[in-house]
Amino acid sequence: RESDGTLAALWRLYVSVQRWYILLFSSFCPNRKFTRLPHLAGTQQNLRLAEQIRDEWLAFGLDSAELVWYDVLLSYPNRTHPNYISIVDQHGDEMFNSSLSEPVPEGYEHVTDIVPPYSAFSAQGRPQGDLVYVNYGRTEDFFKLEREMGINCTGKIVIARYGKIFRGNKVKNAVLAGAKGIILYSDPADYCAQGVEPYPAGWNLPGGGAQRGNVLNLNGAGDPLTPGYPAKEYTYRSKLKEGAGLPKIPVHPIGYHDAVHLLKNMGGASPPPDWRGALNVSYRIGPGFTDDFILNKVRMNIHTYNQVTRIYNVIGRIRGAREPDRCVILGGHRDAWVFGAIDPVSGAAVVHETVRAAGALRQRGWRPRRSLIFASWDAEEFGLQGSTEWAEENAIMLQERAVAYINADSAIEGETHTHTHISQRSQISKLGSGSDFEAYFIRLGITSGRARYTKNRKTERYSSYPVYHSVYETFELVERFYDPSFQRLEAVGRVRAGLVFRLADALIIPLDCKEYARSLTQYANTIQQLALEHPEAIQRYGVTFEGLFSAVDNFTQAAADFHQRLDKLDTKDVLAVRMLNDQLMYLERAFIDPLGLPGRPFYRHVVFAPSSHNKYAGESFPGIYDALFDIENAADPDRAWDEVKRQISIATVTVNSAANTLHPVA
Ligand code: GLU
Ligand code: CA
Ligand code: ZN
Ligand code: ZN
Repeated sequence: RESDGTLAALWRLYVSVQRWYILLFSSFCPNRKFTRLPHLAGTQQNLRLAEQIRDEWLAFGLDSAELVWYDVLLSYPNRTHPNYISIVDQHGDEMFNSSLSEPVPEGYEHVTDIVPPYSAFSAQGRPQGDLVYVNYGRTEDFFKLEREMGINCTGKIVIARYGKIFRGNKVKNAVLAGAKGIILYSDPADYCAQGVEPYPAGWNLPGGGAQRGNVLNLNGAGDPLTPGYPAKEYTYRSKLKEGAGLPKIPVHPIGYHDAVHLLKNMGGASPPPDWRGALNVSYRIGPGFTDDFILNKVRMNIHTYNQVTRIYNVIGRIRGAREPDRCVILGGHRDAWVFGAIDPVSGAAVVHETVRAAGALRQRGWRPRRSLIFASWDAEEFGLQGSTEWAEENAIMLQERAVAYINADSAIEGETHTHTHISQRSQISKLGSGSDFEAYFIRLGITSGRARYTKNRKTERYSSYPVYHSVYETFELVERFYDPSFQRLEAVGRVRAGLVFRLADALIIPLDCKEYARSLTQYANTIQQLALEHPEAIQRYGVTFEGLFSAVDNFTQAAADFHQRLDKLDTKDVLAVRMLNDQLMYLERAFIDPLGLPGRPFYRHVVFAPSSHNKYAGESFPGIYDALFDIENAADPDRAWDEVKRQISIATVTVNSAANTLHPVA
């Protein structure tokens, strides 16, 4: 193929991500002794970094690189009024206060502007009450509490351990259960691996460390005040109290040293065995403390505030040689909670190195067949805001011209196995959300992929990596423990850049519709199995998946025929090539329902959506899945099963329409 020579050259040019990884850490603040700075969204330091990246991308040889700003709602702790949690006695005196910050790792003592652990977008307030331990705060945990243990969380402060699901879902569940506050803590069972020391001796979370993070339930909205439209100076903004996804109760994260004080004297029922963490406490459910401490209450003191703040994406471009009106996007975020050595810098370094390699080729006269767009997104940590606002501003262009989006967040999260998530390639696993591909894939229907170095999920119990979103995500953490030779970063760089360059430069877009057909078959089987758990209802309401299976058959046949035509294609016939490429490019778009999923207008992909119970996880045929969820407890079974039938029909129509786009055009 015509691209092979150029690609080989690119791969030879591909030197080392390590260099840029170190530079992202150390060289962006010239003539400063302390060169490793936090890059929180909305801060001067993150703007400076954006300018530096733009300038370097231009110097590397991109056709253009520019800052693109938006004014979005961010959230910060009050500097003069710190957030903390107390245990108060019957006189209201504080017996215990949680720590106000994490112990700063050696070598970073002089760094100012380390934002203390907080839950971004928490409501303000000082709720006081009895604690209820809710395990991970998952839907099934609250079901167990309410339905089996008879615990009512109304008016209580709940304490949930981090892990298993996106923290925003925990907060939503707490609100639905009637809680007036929620404390999130990292249990050693989930954030300390066996036989590993806490940082800096090892890579486990120290007891004083805590996980920052936003607690929104945006459902793809982007900036909470401007859903659907880019947050520019002319944009209408909703009132703060109507902002999308904002939690109605105070939320605060703590580490396990502090959590011990809250958990150790709790009373009430004993926990189910799998609700016990690894602390030396009873893990009783509550509500409230044991007899000796029964008059003590827990109080949250939360003063975090929301503020419209300017954020900056960096957008770089290389114009395509043959199909400049078709583009492939490589994007990843730049903003970090603190130093962000893994999240996002291990990903940002990969983008930077890819731009360098592409720019070097470009300066030697090369252009890819299609255009390349590189993005350094801002405010991902505040709800994927930079990437979503840019998608909103460019939605029409993107839906007409985007071939694929490749995401570049954290390149590593463990040190053992590789694992790729990529739709439409030989190894497909579902894309969930929780990073910047969301608006591109789930709202706009652009083929998307992500790839990273991960851990063995089956044998390792802790969630994410132990020091995730803490001050201990330092350069030294990666250099000492995760990737001393930077070979893993480099491997991930080659995979991500390789995907981007093949998608941009191959004569025929390297997507496989037959693979999509196989996945659809599997997803249809899975969702039918779920429905078959209710054999009587299915009988009574006449629920059938026949239509969906016949649509999947149509798709499978159309995909096979399409690839046969592709194999026989006269590659010199430029219009025929373009015609088939357009069918490939637009296939993902065909799965978009403009009306969106029920109650989630920005989640429009009929085959994939973030799970309603865990934003990080992908759900297939989410409309049907949600209609079936907990249907045995539906208040109105007739209506509930009618909705199941409606969702099956939407899936059927959509899969048939997608199949139609693969047929010969005439
Ligand atoms: N990646 C960030 C996190 O997991 C943001 C995710 C999101 O808001 O969707 O906290
Ligand atoms: Ca917006
Ligand atoms: Zn993050
Ligand atoms: Zn990230």
